Amino acid sequence: MTETCVLLVEDDPNIVDLVRSNLMARGYRVEVSTTGSDVEQMLEQFDPAIVLLDLGLPDTSGFDLCRSIRERSDVGLIVVSARTGEIDKVRALNLGADDYITKPFGIDELLARMVATLRRSRIVEPVSQDTILKFGDLEIDLEAKLVQRNGERIQLTPTEYALLRYLALNPGVLLTYERLLREVWGRGYENSREYVRVYVGRLRAKLEYDGEETLIVTEPRAGYRLIPPEQ
Ligand code: CA
Repeated sequence: MTETCVLLVEDDPNIVDLVRSNLMARGYRVEVSTTGSDVEQMLEQFDPAIVLLDLGLPDTSGFDLCRSIRERSDVGLIVVSARTGEIDKVRALNLGADDYITKPFGIDELLARMVATLRRSRIVEPVSQDTILKFGDLEIDLEAKLVQRNGERIQLTPTEYALLRYLALNPGVLLTYERLLREVWGRGYENSREYVRVYVGRLRAKLEYDGEETLIVTEPRAGYRLIPPEQ
């Protein structure tokens, strides 16, 4: 089995040592960048499964880096930050981070978040005949993990795809925040409703045309449901 590669973008040597030694002990391959400027090239070179991104880097704004990583890659992206504010967290999620951890963090928590993000990016469908779901001109190929509208590919991050997939497998059903968090994000996210709100917003921005009937309907305070358009 190939080792899962983690790209650690962090300028604090203590955190680099802690994270690198713990991840390597668990069989991950770890590449480190202490600045933001090398990240683009390292993404190309190492093709990591996960990026752990410190927001406070010496040379680059972590938020800008978050955005630029998302422009070129659907890699699992976990922001690690000393900023504990809800605004920073929501901003990072809005820029496409799959998760957000605040410093100081325990290594077990980091590992659990990494496993959850990897699980979302590695969804394997059971073998079956019917793996293409259609909603109007939107087509989701579960086997190829390919989302297309009128034949044009829509690029989704692991978390966006996992959320869309779950909504699409349960059309018309009211999916509560709790259920979505449990099924899409996993254990430990029960109180993180903002993850669902941000990610539904990201999906809408990518999937819905202006002025079109909404595909993902908000049920106030309860959750969301996917309403297939009239055929
Ligand atoms: Ca830092």
